[in-house]
Amino acid sequence: MTEVAAVTAFWRELGLPGLVDIHTHFMPANVLAKVWAFFEDGRGPSGRAWPIIYRRPEEDRVALLRAFGVRTFSALLYPHKPGMAEWLNAWAAGFADRTPDALHSATFFAEPGAGGAGGYVAEAIGAGARLFKAHLQVGGYDPRDELLDGVWGLLAEARVPVVVHCGSGPSPGRFTGPGPISEVLARHPRLTAIIAHLGAPEYGEFLGLAERHRHVYLDTTMVFTDFLERLAPFPAALLPRLAAVADRVLLGSDFPNIPYPYLHQLEALARLDLGTPWLRAVCHGNATRLLGL
Ligand SMILES: [Zn+2]
Repeated sequence: MTEVAAVTAFWRELGLPGLVDIHTHFMPANVLAKVWAFFEDGRGPSGRAWPIIYRRPEEDRVALLRAFGVRTFSALLYPHKPGMAEWLNAWAAGFADRTPDALHSATFFAEPGAGGAGGYVAEAIGAGARLFKAHLQVGGYDPRDELLDGVWGLLAEARVPVVVHCGSGPSPGRFTGPGPISEVLARHPRLTAIIAHLGAPEYGEFLGLAERHRHVYLDTTMVFTDFLERLAPFPAALLPRLAAVADRVLLGSDFPNIPYPYLHQLEALARLDLGTPWLRAVCHGNATRLLGL
């Protein structure tokens, strides 16, 4: 069976009309080339060569997601330095225009300047951005930075979710871990934060955050795959808590920056044995409700 046929069979058997993937990456070609080189050289998260099996032109990657039956996906992108986010957002707006099934995504950095991050974040929301990405490990900024207080407030008020990479995997950053983002959520309790990679490796702490804050979601990106199980295994003892937050777990894959087939993420979720209703919610229902799809 081809991978397309196998992915399609997966959601059909669940009785779903397709999948929603909250965590996929589309970026300007030169930025993506750098990300891929970083992974493939072995400088990436695993500390060893990480072959990108979906290293293909953008239109082929979009076509493949569509062939898989991913009805809606994101185009997450993020800066590693100041002065970059606004340019990324301009590219992302163009990508959203030519890709109607991609959620218009945007990002920010803790930076001063004319209007600072708040200025271009407000602009992106006004232009229709429906999902933001904040990468605390790559960006290396403190989410509690007062330069960002207005940004979190704008996102909370507009009810636009933000995917936050705040777990300390693959290697800790100065502001990763549950502490800093918890303080942001305490100040902005209505902020919809989607914790990337289920907070790996601090799964228990981030489950706790979701238990305490009803607007906190968890994405499954790479979690439970053979690849991540070797680096940051998900403790079986936490499965009942994962089942209990069934309405706030979202399918994410990290496509195309993954060293295994897309299908493997789906199989990794299925083999948890949390039941068909859980899988249906995670792979489709939760995201459609959250994003009003
Ligand atoms: Zn990612």
